[in-house]
Parts: sequence; structure tokens; C-alpha cells
Amino acid sequence: MIRRLYATLAVVPALAIWLAAQPQFSDAVRGYIKIDSPVVALTNVRVIDGTGAPARPNQTVVIKGGNIETVGDTARTNVPAGATTIDLAGKSVIPGLVMVHEHLYYPTGPGVYGQLGESFTRLYLAGGVTTMRTGGNVNGFMDLKLKRLIDSGQRPGPAIDATAPYLNGPNTFVQMREMKGPEDARRQVAYWADEGATSFKAYMQIRRDELAAAIDEVHKRGMKITAHLCSVTYGEAADLGIDNLEHGFLAATDFVTDKQPDACPGQGRGQQTIAALDENGEPFKALVRKLIEKRVTLTSTLTVFETFTPGRPVPPGVDVLLPSLKEQFLQTHTRVAGNQQSVYVKLFPKALALERAFAKAGGTLIAGTDPTGSGGVIPGYANQRQLELMVEAGFSPLEAISIGTMNGAKFLGRDAKVGTIAAGKQADLVVVNGDPSVNIADVRNVETVFKQGVGFDPAKLIESVRGRAGLW
Ligand SMILES: [Zn+2]
Repeated sequence: MIRRLYATLAVVPALAIWLAAQPQFSDAVRGYIKIDSPVVALTNVRVIDGTGAPARPNQTVVIKGGNIETVGDTARTNVPAGATTIDLAGKSVIPGLVMVHEHLYYPTGPGVYGQLGESFTRLYLAGGVTTMRTGGNVNGFMDLKLKRLIDSGQRPGPAIDATAPYLNGPNTFVQMREMKGPEDARRQVAYWADEGATSFKAYMQIRRDELAAAIDEVHKRGMKITAHLCSVTYGEAADLGIDNLEHGFLAATDFVTDKQPDACPGQGRGQQTIAALDENGEPFKALVRKLIEKRVTLTSTLTVFETFTPGRPVPPGVDVLLPSLKEQFLQTHTRVAGNQQSVYVKLFPKALALERAFAKAGGTLIAGTDPTGSGGVIPGYANQRQLELMVEAGFSPLEAISIGTMNGAKFLGRDAKVGTIAAGKQADLVVVNGDPSVNIADVRNVETVFKQGVGFDPAKLIESVRGRAGLW
């Protein structure tokens, strides 16, 4: 859409600020933009502000210069002259999603992850994700470069907190490095930090001395580190000063009775103990107390575990996949459905219960999707599904939205600008048809995604990759 210039005096200063704040979008990015005006007023809209506060009906949100200028009752809020006014009666705005276990890769063949940065960044934005952390990278430079291309307006997509390649010990992944001790861990962190990585992730075979060195090196640089653990227990990592742990409690090996130090007993062994864990029992409660005391944040990634669980629906969005990848996933889904012996029959409901118990005890939960596993976790669609699954776990829709927006922004240190809807914040907003504060599934009805006050068209973003996610 062509950028409209307004001569109205009231709008001129806003125009100047707005032009300064906006990146110079490429023509390709412009093709996905449907609202691009210096002043926009969203009227008669239900505001769900991300703080957990009740939804407020009949609001007007004025966006100026890429930021939210005012939010107030439509009856009492002045719409500036020259504003592009959009009547959103019957619709809601929520903050742009801030999700933290995202990837720009996807399982495409046995043991191989295809690099899908181009399609996935579009799908994330289309699904309402305006800020994301990539939770581990197996490609090297792509996450970092795409972040810069998006920031400079050359690609459509969310703001990216870009992770470095995984920090891991000896492993069987052909796309993953093996570190050779604590000094090597420091070297790997330093290299990628210098290249522009802003977050780090340790993986299943790392040793305690390597993790300690990595944590120290990351913290020295004022950044945060998370982990998908196995060789190191949650309790050990908390004592070492880790900031965040992935996959709720499903990667914990703390309860494996014969666990050897620095050795991964197998993710399956750990998960057998988690499936049998009592959320009201003392062993679990003691771990929760430790995590809270050490200020370790947990990331919920229920979407990836749902794909391993018999009896669950086909996840949303698989139609965007390359037909062969879609077929591959649907065969997996059928196989999973027929395996009633799977540990996930007990483990998946347990995952929900443990995360809910952690949050109830005062722990901080953030959310992500993890488009890995055996496929079927489709960016954008999965971010919406993650909110639905947290409601299934017992969170209210308002709490789930808050975890998927405000909590993520706070963890990333970006909450002064994003994660909630209030005057002065960046205008990262998702317009959805319906009322997700009552019916969380309405988060699927995304009509427009505003990023820094520019409204992107989700349908066009999705159409641009339909049937091809898997190629690029
Ligand atoms: Zn992951």
C-alpha cells in the first residue's frame, strides 16, 4: 500500500517522528502491508492489554509515530484530525506475541533440519508474533542475518532475539558442534556474541564445567542463557546460575535415581520419572522452590509435546507445508495416534499439571512453540495453539495471553516497549475477530498484525508460503 502523506498541521510532527522510527521497507515487504499511516485510530475495540487485567470494551487506541499515543474509552477519546480510522466493533486487540522457543528450522528428513528462515519469519508475523527469541540455532549465521534484514525493513517478520548455535558436548546431530571443555565453551560464546548473537542455549550433552563457563561468559556480556537439559539436572543448572530452562519439566533428569554426573541417561528415562511424578509431592515441590529461589524462568512448549501424544487433533497450519512434508507429518500423526503404549499418554497431561503447579507456587512461565520434533509445529499457528494449550492446563485466557506477551517481554528485557498495551509503548498489536478473553481459540482469527504501528496482512503473508514451507 502506498504511504499516504498528510498536510494537516496536527499530523506533521507525528509524520516526522514516524518517518524517523520506521525502517525503509523494501517493495517486497510493502506487498504485505495493508495499513501504513502516520496516525491510526482503532475505535470501538476490546482491549486485552497483556497484564492479565480484564478486557476493556469500546476502547479507542491511537497510534502515532509507531507508538501507542492513547488508549481510552471511545466516547471520551479524541481521534486526531487526519488519522486513518478503523472501526473494530466486535473485535479485540492483544499485544503482539512475545514467544521465546522459536526456530528458523524444521525437521525435513532423518536427522536433518531444513533452514526455513524465509518462510518461518513470515508465518510467525502472520500468527501475531511481533517479537521472538530463537531457542537454539543449527545454521550459524542465518538467525543473526535475518534479524538485521527484518530490522532494516528488507524482510517481513518479528523482531528477533537471535541465538547462537547450540552449546553442547558429544552428540549425534550432524548439524551440531561438540565442545571440548570449559575454555572451548567460553570461546564459542565469545565468538557468537561478537557476531551479534543476543542469546544462548545449552543442550542435552553439556557438562557442568562447560555450562558453568558458558553461563559466566554470557553473563559477563549482560546476556541470558537457557538450556534444554539432560546431562545436567535442573537443580544443578539452577545452582550454576542459569536464567531459563526449556520444555517445562519434561527435560528434567533430577528424578532419575541412578543418574551419573555429567551424563545424559536418555531423555526417555527422564520422562518416565516425570510421568510418574506427583505435583503435590515433596520431591517436585522442593525442585520448584529451588527454581523460584534461584529465579529460574521456565519455558512452556506444549505444542511440540502435543504432536507426540496419542488422541490429539492434527495441529493447525500443516497446509502451508510442502506437500511431501505434510504427508510425512500426517503419517507420523497416524502412527502416534495408534501407540497407546506411549509415555505421552501420561506425560502430556502431567506436563500441563506441573507447569500449572509451578506458576501457582510463584514461578515465572514464558511460552514458545519449538517447531522441531517430528514436525507438525507450524510457526504462527503453533503460537496460537500454545495459548490454547495453556488454557487447557488451567490458566485463564487472560493469564495465558499474559504469559505469551508480557512475561516473554519481561524476560527479554524489552517490557518497557513491548508485551503490553499502554500509552507510550510500541504499537505492536494483533487485531483478532472475537473475544479471546472468553474464548481463547479466537486468537486464531488474526486480521491485522501491527508492528511498530505498521499493519501487516496475515492472509498475504501465509499465501506467499502456502505449500512451500519446507523449501526455504
Ligand atoms: Zn527447540
